[in-house]
Parts: sequence; structure tokens; C-alpha cells
Amino acid sequence: MAELLIRASTQDAALLRRIYGLDGHSAAATSPSRIVVDAHTPLKSGDIASTARRAGVPFLIDPQTYYLQGAQHCGDPWASRLPFGRPDKLVPADLDAFAQEQLVALAVEYQIQHGATAVIAPYVHIDRLDSEWINIQAGLWQRTARYLTRENVVLPITAVLAIGWRVLHPVQGPAALAPVLSALAALGPREVALAASKADQGVRPQDRAMDLVLMIERIRRDIPVIAWQQGHLGELAVAAGATGYECGIGWRERCDLGAKANEHRKPETDGQRSARPVFVSALGRSIPKRSLEALRSQRELWMQIMCTDPGCCPAGGTALLGDGRAHTIVQRRQRIEQLDRIERGVWRWKHLAEAADTGLELAHRLNRRATTNDDIKHIDTSALEATRAVSHTRRVDARSRRVA
Ligand SMILES: [Zn+2]
Repeated sequence: MAELLIRASTQDAALLRRIYGLDGHSAAATSPSRIVVDAHTPLKSGDIASTARRAGVPFLIDPQTYYLQGAQHCGDPWASRLPFGRPDKLVPADLDAFAQEQLVALAVEYQIQHGATAVIAPYVHIDRLDSEWINIQAGLWQRTARYLTRENVVLPITAVLAIGWRVLHPVQGPAALAPVLSALAALGPREVALAASKADQGVRPQDRAMDLVLMIERIRRDIPVIAWQQGHLGELAVAAGATGYECGIGWRERCDLGAKANEHRKPETDGQRSARPVFVSALGRSIPKRSLEALRSQRELWMQIMCTDPGCCPAGGTALLGDGRAHTIVQRRQRIEQLDRIERGVWRWKHLAEAADTGLELAHRLNRRATTNDDIKHIDTSALEATRAVSHTRRVDARSRRVA
């Protein structure tokens, strides 16, 4: 069954206890397959790790070691509190054999100490085909393999392959990544978590999304793939054969490694964070709560946005305006399970193309309202457009292959 990995923060600890039925009430209709947390989260509280343990759900700690490639604010928890974090920027030459050994040992030990049930090998962001970080990534994986053998660590391994959209190129990408792909074979991970940065953006997002599909199809011939930080293209990844995808609850829905790293350059502000966005099933993504509140009075649009699933939200659809987090998880999981139940590839692509058509129609209507109502925020439709175009092409390809 397709997996939904949820990236949770300490704010979600009580929600997760509730969803897994650990607070004395019955469990939610459906729940995350696995829980992922940011590297510094276990330092704030061990609550999420213990919830996962009690629920019998795998627990991953993302070491986010690509932050080493940029400067971090010295007060940032990743830079200042983690044994392998540091505020200054490293260049490839800084990560010599000794520094790599040290990073591997510290990052792996840290995850095990804080209750991870699988090890995520240290990883870097490879944003270009000629990147010097390619050899560093190969070295980190080879050293992780040796470290785990030497230390007798028998936990499953997840290899995050963090690449920029240019490296997804179907011919040049695998050629450039050759050292990394052979190190991957030595590491022998249970899965590759493909973090494809900005794969849903650009002038022609359908080209990037198609390259993502081809990369998944290629890697999964040898190793199972999950899509990392891919809330907007997660279903596309599952249709391409990924075993699932990972994303946050309402936020952290898209993979932009550069932007994520940049957030840690400035001190954390005490300013008010905006309310958490809420998942709208028809759009396959979350939208700001303020937009939802403004749409509440627009009956026809609201009927397409509100949740009509009685197993998820109480009747009336007002739950979305309260705490929409459980709804977001339930709907995301149900959507990939629905896709997963469709046996034939060609029908999966057809299903996705039709869902994207409906989503785009709604998004365009919302965007027309957004031009006259400041409370309704414009929706970026590039992921939906890409999903529609790629699904259509894949569907035609699958049909012509069958005819041939
Ligand atoms: Zn719901």
C-alpha cells in the first residue's frame, strides 16, 4: 500500500497522539505510515518519538546535512545545538575524508540516540550536473556503509538523493550522478528518498515533472523510491511507481532545498506566523486559512472546497476553519490509497489527469476571485498543470505501448 510520510513538528505532538488513538479516544480513520521530524525537533521534546514507538510506526530524523553548504545564523537550533551542525558555510574541499568520517559518525549516532527506527545517511544538495558535491555525496554514502557495518548497526537505511531540477535530466543526470549511483549500491539502502528541488516550478514545469517521473522509474528498477518533500507532486510520483511521498501538514508541501536552507540564515523572528494552511482535496494542495474564511460565504465555491467525507470531518464543513490538520492527513492518505488501488498504469494516469483537470478548473475560478478580493490568495497552478500534462502523455505512451 502506498505510504504517506508526515513531517511533524513539536506543535503536532498532541495531534499525533490523538490520530493514533493514544489519548484514550478512538484512532482517526487513517493515519501517517511513518513520521519524519526535522533534525533539531527531538532536542525540543521526545514526545513524537515516544508516540511513534507506542503506535508502532517507523520514526525518521532528517539530519538536513545540506544546511552545511550555506551559512546559518549562529542562534539557529540546527547550527548551534546539533552535534554535527555549524553556522559557517562549507565548500566541498572542507569535507575531506576525516570531516566526512566525523559527519557520518555524529549524524548516525544522533539519530539512533533520539529513537530513529531507520538511519538517514548524511546527504548534500547536488544542484548542478558539474557539481563538486557529487563526489562528496558518493564519499558520504560509502563511509556510512562502512560505519554501519563497523558499529553493527542493523537499522534500515534511507538514502536521501537531494538534487536540483537540472540534475533530473534523463540522460545527463544519471551520467553525472554515476559516482553517487555506484556508492548507492554499496550503501544498500531500503529506499531512496528523492528530494527533487523545484521540480514543480519553472517556465515549463511539465518538463521538470516528466524528468522527475523518468528519474523515479529509473531508480526504482534497483531500489524502491519515495518522493521527499513532494506534497504537490506526490501523487504523480506514486503513479510513476514511487512507494509513497513525504510532506508536512498544511505546510512544507514542496521541495525547495535552497529556500529551506536560506530560512536558517536569519534569526528566528518573534513575529506572528500565519495560520497553518488547510488541504483542499480537489486542489491536491493546501491553501491559506484566510482564503478559506473568505470563501465560506461563496456557497457554490465553498461546496467544492469543503470536506464532505463523514469519516473525516463532521457534517457542515466548518471543521476546516478550526483545526484542519487531521483532515489534511486523512485526505492525503485516502487520495494515494485510491490511486494505489487502480491496478493498471494507464488507468492511474487517466485518474490523475482527470483529477488535475477538476483541480485546475477550481483553481482558475478561485484565482479569478482573488483578483477582486484581497483575502483570497492566488494559487500557483504550476504543479497541477504539470500533473495534467505529464499524466496525459504517460497515458498515451502506455496505450501506444500496449497497441505495439
Ligand atoms: Zn475532512
